Amino acid sequence: MKTGFNEGCNRFCKNHSVMEDLELCEKYGFDYIDIQSECLERDLAEGKYTVDDLAAWFADPNHKLKMLSYNALVFFNMKQTQEEKDAVMARLDRIIGICNKLQCKMIVVVPSMDLPVHATIDEIREDAVAVLRDMVKKAEPHGIRLSLEFCGAPGMSINRFEDAYAIVQEVDSSMVGITLDQYHFHAMASSFDNLEKADGKKIFVWHLNGMENMPCGAAYNTDEKRLWPGLPGDCLDHKRYADTLKKIGFEGGVCTMEVFRPEYYALSNEENIRTAAEYTKTHVEKYWN
Ligand code: ZN
Repeated sequence: MKTGFNEGCNRFCKNHSVMEDLELCEKYGFDYIDIQSECLERDLAEGKYTVDDLAAWFADPNHKLKMLSYNALVFFNMKQTQEEKDAVMARLDRIIGICNKLQCKMIVVVPSMDLPVHATIDEIREDAVAVLRDMVKKAEPHGIRLSLEFCGAPGMSINRFEDAYAIVQEVDSSMVGITLDQYHFHAMASSFDNLEKADGKKIFVWHLNGMENMPCGAAYNTDEKRLWPGLPGDCLDHKRYADTLKKIGFEGGVCTMEVFRPEYYALSNEENIRTAAEYTKTHVEKYWN
């Protein structure tokens, strides 16, 4: 099992920079990085470097770190006007251009939240299937896969594993799968019964984290309650996640740390990435090897 770092862990650390993350992830032995779109856009707007500079970094044969995913194309579904739908596709075109330069073969897509219409699960599924089919037509020629990340918050339009899985099954493309984020899975009470019945090959990305034991659907049960996995107070059953992924044949090959805890943003970038690397390695050794 390879290890990955998601910039959710350190995106608000002082003087955060994607370029520095590449160096630090390489230094602390991560195999992969998920680049957060908001970090990349912030750095590009500030003129810290260009996409071509990042491309040169990844192309350097001395660097082993690879980019696992562009994280993320957010709010892709349930658009109400043609103009909004076109804007999503235009964003996808731009992201594909970035991924091609950075040798990245995966785009995580995140559902829309707080919908202006009272859509049913069936309506949301039909819409998402249609949009993902259009998106895959653009991404597939570049060998880029799409990974739908259901988000465990009440306002999210796709917020449980079983709903995301039904969408991916209906799209029925080898290029479209699911991001299984442990926090998101637990936060809206997705069911292990359904995960155990799923085809592990449809899970492209695994986001590792722990979390405080918060009520399902509580307004304060947010990404900020995530923890480095295994800390006191972490309520997640890590053995069950790992064993289930093994049992259903997960082939993603990477365990990616993703927390969004404000306390961890007080660490330096280096301390944050060094700590994330330690926890990820310990986790993989304990539950996977
Ligand atoms: Zn995630």
